Amino acid sequence: MICLKTSGVVDRVITTDVLAVGGSGAGVTAAVAALRSNVKVTLVSKGKVGNSGNAIMAGGGFSVDGESALKVCGMENADPSFTQDKLFDYIVKESYFISDQNMVEQYVEESPKVVNELLQWGKRAGQEFLFVPPSTWIAAGTCWGNALKQGIKENPEIEVIEDTMIIDLLTNNGQVVGALGLDIYTGELIAFKSKAVVLGTGGFQPFSLKNTVTDMTGDGVAMAFRAGAKLADMEFLLAFATALSPNEMKGSIYPFVMEFNMRNIHYDVRDGNGDLIDIPEEIIKISRGTKLSKLASMYYWGKAIAEGRGTPNGGVYLDYSSNSKEELERSLENFFQRFSKWHRYGYYKGEDMSEVKRMMLNDEWIEVGLGFEYSMGGILVDEKMNTGVPGLFAAGEVTSGVFGANRVRDGLTEMLAQGYRAGLSAAEFVKGTSELDIDLSQLESIVERITRPFAAKDGISAIKVHHNIEKTSDEGFGFLRNEAGLTKTLNELNRIKNEELPYISFKNKSRNYNYEWIEYMQVENLLTCVEAGVRAALMRKESRGCHIRSDYPEVNHDEWILRIIIENEDNKMKLTTRKPIVTKLPLYKGKDENVMAYFLNKNLGYM
Ligand SMILES: Cc1cc2nc3c(=O)[nH]c(=O)nc-3n(C[C@H](O)[C@H](O)[C@H](O)COP(=O)(O)OP(=O)(O)OC[C@H]3O[C@@H](n4cnc5c(N)ncnc54)[C@H](O)[C@@H]3O)c2cc1C
Repeated sequence: MICLKTSGVVDRVITTDVLAVGGSGAGVTAAVAALRSNVKVTLVSKGKVGNSGNAIMAGGGFSVDGESALKVCGMENADPSFTQDKLFDYIVKESYFISDQNMVEQYVEESPKVVNELLQWGKRAGQEFLFVPPSTWIAAGTCWGNALKQGIKENPEIEVIEDTMIIDLLTNNGQVVGALGLDIYTGELIAFKSKAVVLGTGGFQPFSLKNTVTDMTGDGVAMAFRAGAKLADMEFLLAFATALSPNEMKGSIYPFVMEFNMRNIHYDVRDGNGDLIDIPEEIIKISRGTKLSKLASMYYWGKAIAEGRGTPNGGVYLDYSSNSKEELERSLENFFQRFSKWHRYGYYKGEDMSEVKRMMLNDEWIEVGLGFEYSMGGILVDEKMNTGVPGLFAAGEVTSGVFGANRVRDGLTEMLAQGYRAGLSAAEFVKGTSELDIDLSQLESIVERITRPFAAKDGISAIKVHHNIEKTSDEGFGFLRNEAGLTKTLNELNRIKNEELPYISFKNKSRNYNYEWIEYMQVENLLTCVEAGVRAALMRKESRGCHIRSDYPEVNHDEWILRIIIENEDNKMKLTTRKPIVTKLPLYKGKDENVMAYFLNKNLGYM
């Protein structure tokens, strides 16, 4: 056996039992759960723990069922009539029956204890979570981040390695035996030798208008796929109202956060010509001020934008002029007061809201676009967070299965419930397995692949390739899709894969904090995710949830309550379908005219 330490392929070797990847909710809870099962745990994260990933971007809140909010979390004003059964029912229906129901049960049943633990961490870290009946807590993104940091602080036995990007999983005979990482600042390559790995690396976001963190490139999804895991539901991506104006607030989610917190305030939606976008009253009634408004805006605004009726920056205008000045002033004051718990008075996150206030009070329209927030698709897992690859577990947004075609409930709750379960499962696996060696030849070939651009001359920049992926995703894979657009995007992705990716070169030849190098590895991952998404979107010849097709507007339950599963067959994507797992609620039948008519259909019993 060749000694890894002296081989020169990597700079360092770190040995552990469970490697938790990701410094946000899924990674931290996995690490804590594994530690409590008495195994050695290392947590590695591309960013800082509690200061990276999308949890810190959160703006709405998170929830459990009302009964658990009362009994497990001790919220006296929680509404116990909002039971676990009701929550289950909502999630399955909101998912358009694409959820695997065993996954929804895991979310509903296992989340309260972990949510309560996070709230306790938050309390001890001095964070304020505002409880709103029946069962939601509102806070700033930093509250979740600071609570997670507290969780790590209270478990000092967890070895934490930050600013280190995991590049690929290492396998031996199909079993995961560790991962290769890059210390972003020093450029050192680190081989993590571990008996189990939990991926908690978040989702992917390939579009140009961003409200997410910028490095949401689906690293975990792509590396799991390369290691033999299956992906599912990759065609479903959720977008919501994201500021285009005022210019300095572009990318902020304040328009949605205002809607969520100022439910008495009405707004009209206007297209680029100033004409009203027609949104049925019943839809406004069931969606405004709730997270269902995300899908409603994707559908109604998205249609207008795709038809060429968008604003100059590709959005719509929100017109608040039907409210009285007094009502607007009062509501804005309440909003600023509520958020002054977490931000400076009059600010949302770091941004001064005075220009927004001025525009609203002067009846000026606010330009808003659709920024993608959350990927429902990801690694196929079961309710124990097994990926099907021995030694590999996954949790949080990197997975698929709970929210199906559309997420209305909480990504934050998902990351906690799944992370904790994945940590327990990984620890259990560790206890029943013996240590396997790292395959040096695999390690060498990964290192060769990721260092190739250092020697390349006059190639293309990885940053440019990233822009090209965003451009083609915007054009064909966005909120209103059709066969021609998707095919064009798939062809362009193939071109990027064959004619750009292999010719990436770096201007900066240093390994220390080389952003081009990080981008090179990220675009490779993003490309895998988008290709999977576009292929699935082409296969699904109907509309469902966040997959909205202009050429197949109908939601066809009779033929398409199916999950699209993507397998890695000799580095090619093989697509198959299977019915979602049913544990309680029989699969739906019939057809709906479009994705929003689905919610109004009396047979569904949603309203
Ligand atoms: C603007 C916005 C608002 C949102 N608001 C809400 C809300 O109000 N309520 C709600 O429930 N959900 C909300 N969400 C969704 C929610 O934030 C996510 O679903 C949740 O954060 C996912 O948690 P996670 O732990 O799976 O991944 P993330 O929170 O995204 O964390 C991923 C972690 O993995 C690390 N990582 C990534 N790649 C690598 C790699 N290659 N190697 C090592 N580490 C890596 C990252 O640095 C990060 O630490 C919002 C999302 C956005 C973008």
